[in-house]
Amino acid sequence: MYYRKLIHLLLIVIVINIMVPIQLTYAASVPDSSAILSALTSTTAPSGTGSLSALLSLLFDKILGPLLNIAGNQSSSAVAGNIARPPAKPPASSAAPVQDSGVLRGKIIVVDPGHGGSNPGAVANGARESDINLAVSLKLRDQLQKAGATVIMTRQTDSMVAPAGSTNNQDLAARLDIAEAKSADLFIAVHSNDNEDRQIAGTMTFFPSGKSDELAAAVQSAVVKETNSIDKGTSPATFYVLRKTSMPSILIEMGFVSNPTEAARLNDDGYRNQITQGIFNGIVRYLNNR
Ligand SMILES: [Zn+2]
Repeated sequence: MYYRKLIHLLLIVIVINIMVPIQLTYAASVPDSSAILSALTSTTAPSGTGSLSALLSLLFDKILGPLLNIAGNQSSSAVAGNIARPPAKPPASSAAPVQDSGVLRGKIIVVDPGHGGSNPGAVANGARESDINLAVSLKLRDQLQKAGATVIMTRQTDSMVAPAGSTNNQDLAARLDIAEAKSADLFIAVHSNDNEDRQIAGTMTFFPSGKSDELAAAVQSAVVKETNSIDKGTSPATFYVLRKTSMPSILIEMGFVSNPTEAARLNDDGYRNQITQGIFNGIVRYLNNR
């Protein structure tokens, strides 16, 4: 089958070369014996049929391609042998790193490290939520700023956002007031989770019902990809901080301090970098797709 095709092909090539008196122009395009040899002995063509298809593709690329190209091209430069094959397109890869395409420039992003001060949030296994939230949020701030975003932190130290002595609800309201007063484009609340069941682990992202689900999905999948954490998905929630915001808002629960393994990871600086990269990638992807 392949041999018959090959013979037909060679016949076509010979006939065209005889009928079209321009063959000398393409002498440089004809593969030399070493090119054919390397195609035949190539490790990417382990079988006999593989070698034959390599030879066929060489014939197509080097001989038939240029000839057919000429047939449809009347320009004199082409006839003179100035045949440039179009550059091969770079292979599309879904694993390509997320590129900051400048989409963050000029964006106002409020980063809200949950809890702080007299309210440490979840504490277990030597992990303190308010500290973890702040550490990741500060990393996120730096990375977003580097990409040109204006970042507003609701807190930058281990303190409440509302004046000391305020209730938790007043503290949450103070965080929202900041986001609204600055007309933020995005509101990102950073939290760590807690459960009575020490076995439960994983990352989840909440969003206000009816809005922000795309932002939540983008950040959730990007964080799971970077950290390899258990994907607990996204969920609409009616948390105060999410319910009252007018801009797209999410609350990410990075992991469970109640799970000993995850608590250790959340205390690890390298793991915090991975989470940060994931949140950043998710935000960029979300903004790119808008
Ligand atoms: Zn929390």
